[in-house]
Amino acid sequence: LVSRKVKSEDTVLDIDGVRIGGDAPPIIVAGPCSIESEEQMEQTAAYLAAKGVKILRGGAYKPRTSPYGFQGMGVDGLILGSRVAKEHGMLFVTEVMDTRDVEIVAEHADILQVGARNMHNFALLREVGRARRPVLLKRGLSATIEEWLYAAEYILSEGNSEVILCERGIRTYEKWTRNTLDLSAVALAKQETHLPVIVDVTHAAGRRDLLIPLAKAALAVGADGIHVEVHPSPATALSDNEQQLDFAGYDKFSDALSTLLRQPVGV
Ligand code: PEP
Ligand code: MN
Repeated sequence: LVSRKVKSEDTVLDIDGVRIGGDAPPIIVAGPCSIESEEQMEQTAAYLAAKGVKILRGGAYKPRTSPYGFQGMGVDGLILGSRVAKEHGMLFVTEVMDTRDVEIVAEHADILQVGARNMHNFALLREVGRARRPVLLKRGLSATIEEWLYAAEYILSEGNSEVILCERGIRTYEKWTRNTLDLSAVALAKQETHLPVIVDVTHAAGRRDLLIPLAKAALAVGADGIHVEVHPSPATALSDNEQQLDFAGYDKFSDALSTLLRQPVGV
């Protein structure tokens, strides 16, 4: 079902007027790694909305390496994230990690995110496939392209055709970046499937100084959007404080991408 052999034209999602994929201009998904407080979300959403960002991200359930790390605000985070996004005319995307939470997350979020660590959680894939919400599907930490596309197939096979694929870097022997951004996967996913494909530069790089060149490269190979973490005060963030952009950093980031984010002349 995900294959271009089955459906040759690009799938273009229209989520409350925000178009993703096909001939739509590339979108930006931005916001903090974790939802931490009302003030943090309010500041971030106000700032990003003023910059024209239409999709606000923020984790309420966090897949942390250590069980003692901040696990997210849970339902309170969902309520906060959706309220703040709505107040600023944005869509809200947040991760769901557990089949038992799909219903409540779908109640509050406009887009359900399946994280890299759950790309192989087939019960979760089936459950979000039955939800009436678009799904942002991250590629697994060590998933082949084929496994990633089959994960999308699980969702479509349950009746949900609104899937956005998201390359976020894979594990390699390289240590200077957190993960290795696989742009071949982006080009191949665009070629082999009709689904929109976006690139999460934050988790791919794991460092701020590579975000601009990686985002430029992603757009150059045809990505339909960029996913980037933005926090009012990354140094004090409760997760991923090495890699989130502050507002000044995002200003530079969006300036550097501005010509690539505009729709090409004549299209
Ligand atoms: C995230 O986007 O919040 C996240 C945890 O990313 P990933 O699943 O790609 O590691
Ligand atoms: Mn993060």
